[in-house]
Amino acid sequence: ERQALGRLRRLPARLSSGEKLQLQANLELPAELPLIAQSGASGIGLLRTEFLFMNAMTMPDEDRQAAIYAEIIGTMAGDSTTIRVVDWGGEKHSDALERAGLNQEGDTINPALGMRGLRLLLRYPTVLETQFAAILKASVAGPVRVMLPMVTTVLELREARDLYHRVARRLRRKGVPLGDTLPPLGIMVETPAAAIMGDALAQEAEFLAIGTNDLTMYTLAVDRASADVASLYHPLHPAVLRLIQAATEAALRQYRPISLCGEIAGDPRVVPLLVGLGLRSFSMTASAVPRVKRAVRALSFEDCRRLAHRVMEASDVVEVTRLIDDFAAGA
Ligand code: PEP
Ligand code: MG
Repeated sequence: ERQALGRLRRLPARLSSGEKLQLQANLELPAELPLIAQSGASGIGLLRTEFLFMNAMTMPDEDRQAAIYAEIIGTMAGDSTTIRVVDWGGEKHSDALERAGLNQEGDTINPALGMRGLRLLLRYPTVLETQFAAILKASVAGPVRVMLPMVTTVLELREARDLYHRVARRLRRKGVPLGDTLPPLGIMVETPAAAIMGDALAQEAEFLAIGTNDLTMYTLAVDRASADVASLYHPLHPAVLRLIQAATEAALRQYRPISLCGEIAGDPRVVPLLVGLGLRSFSMTASAVPRVKRAVRALSFEDCRRLAHRVMEASDVVEVTRLIDDFAAGA
């Protein structure tokens, strides 16, 4: 079985009906890079940059960050890397960021609804400026995209985009070589607000990536980190699926690339449903890539579309799960 999965590495991620899919890897730590190379992933669809700020006394400066990004981008040898600016706040704390002036300690008793992600970066923009500059400097090393976490409104996107362009102009003035076109700036869709406003966001974001880990939490009002309510945390709840569908259709209507990078992207039983909803691009734990590839190669788009059609009529997660399991069992 290991060998068979290994051979898949060089085979294309294509449905039996011919449509090409993109299967990329999520990266949390640079130590995972060799695994990604072995997995057959066609790039990094989500580079979580929190590792730069973990266990660190101070934030790595612009040039240090640029060197780290350039090394990762270079390793991908022409495959694209999507770098997400730091998604801090909520329950996650960083000494380095606090020393850099990011005060994550708000007055809130609901940290997940408080200062986190993009809103935290916009409140204390020096960290974001440094990260934008480092990514731009590293962008000569290969194809790269820049992604914003925890977006809830188009106003945040505009503010971040203005800053991105300001940083690029500053670098150009200083004679830093940047390509003619800047790396695309896109957003995570991981709040219900972003999914519902997908049409407005897709006009201004150059790409979208659905983050179902947080989208599930915010849609179902179930803390993703709480054992108490873990049995209520269902990424396949019909409410979550409807938001995935809405965001996907909004992006496709405007020809914006859209991908999905939550945990469910690595589940071979779930991906056929997501393909049926119109998604073509997925980013997952590297170790999941071969199994997902094997599953999709056996399916036609028509199969996936029929599955999605049936699933979207379900009103509860038990029925959704049964439909998906029956489909996987070939029933
Ligand atoms: C998500 O929320 O689905 C996601 C991919 O981001 P993270 O898991 O890093 O919050
Ligand atoms: Mg998230």
